[in-house]
Amino acid sequence: MKRVFALLLTLIVIFTTFGCSPAIIDIPISNSTVIIKTPEASNVTEAPVVTVMPVVTLLPTLEIVPTQTPTIKPTATALPTVKPTEKPTSTPAATEETRTSAPTSSDGKKYIALTFDDGPSTRATGRILDALEKNHAKATFFVVGMSDPPNKDSESLKAKKYALMQRAVSLGCEIGNHTMEHKHLPRLSESEIRQQVEGVNEIVKDATGSSTKLVRPPYGDKSQVVYDAVDYPLILWSIDTLDWDTRNADKTYDAVIDNARDGDIVLMHDLYTTTADAAERIIPKLIREGFTLVTVSELFKIKGIKLEAGKYYRNAY
Ligand SMILES: [Zn+2]
Repeated sequence: MKRVFALLLTLIVIFTTFGCSPAIIDIPISNSTVIIKTPEASNVTEAPVVTVMPVVTLLPTLEIVPTQTPTIKPTATALPTVKPTEKPTSTPAATEETRTSAPTSSDGKKYIALTFDDGPSTRATGRILDALEKNHAKATFFVVGMSDPPNKDSESLKAKKYALMQRAVSLGCEIGNHTMEHKHLPRLSESEIRQQVEGVNEIVKDATGSSTKLVRPPYGDKSQVVYDAVDYPLILWSIDTLDWDTRNADKTYDAVIDNARDGDIVLMHDLYTTTADAAERIIPKLIREGFTLVTVSELFKIKGIKLEAGKYYRNAY
């Protein structure tokens, strides 16, 4: 009995001191199951964050894009702001060589520069050169890169134009630069203007062996950008025959003969047969009137006016 009593006593002692021992065994298991569940739960909570939310938030940012296009429009309206700058820059006297008095040449003679734009052309340039040669006179031809844009010259036409420029130079005439594509230069960037000018320079150098020294901006359009971009004097005119508009030889002839005076620069175009008709009469008539027909560079040299890059000149008065 003593042994039975002792056994019961130890069992009682064990149960009273370690009564929670069976629970101790469960707790780690239950704890481990809790630990496993929490990452799963966190994975689940992450999923909605990743899926819908960013897509929803992207849409409004896409809607912002159209609101950015109106902000581009103001930069487009910056274009018109370029135009007003053309007007003030076209009038500043600071860049123009204006002279109140017309200095007479030291030799007392009258000089005039006939200029022909937009060529060379097979229709009129050759005939004008014939008239100049016949009368021992000179003129200046402001040539373009392409006579009939957007079509480029064929090889045979290119050869003819090269021959015309070579003949002009052989007669003592001057080849000027009227830009590649006859665009409004103030509407172009500085680099585009340079390309327009240098393109013709390359052509003329290829044809005649020397590059051009003068630039005539198409339409007489100029601006500060043009002054900055063109590294040559800009040559305008003092007599506009409007030959391109009238296509009338008599009117072209009258426009020159009725207005010609010492130091003038005359604008014509060697694109029209009517201009060639007029030139055949203008050239000998001016000589009879006492004029010496010279190139633009010669005219300014005779008048003692130094031509400068980035400035424009209407006459050599
Ligand atoms: Zn022109």
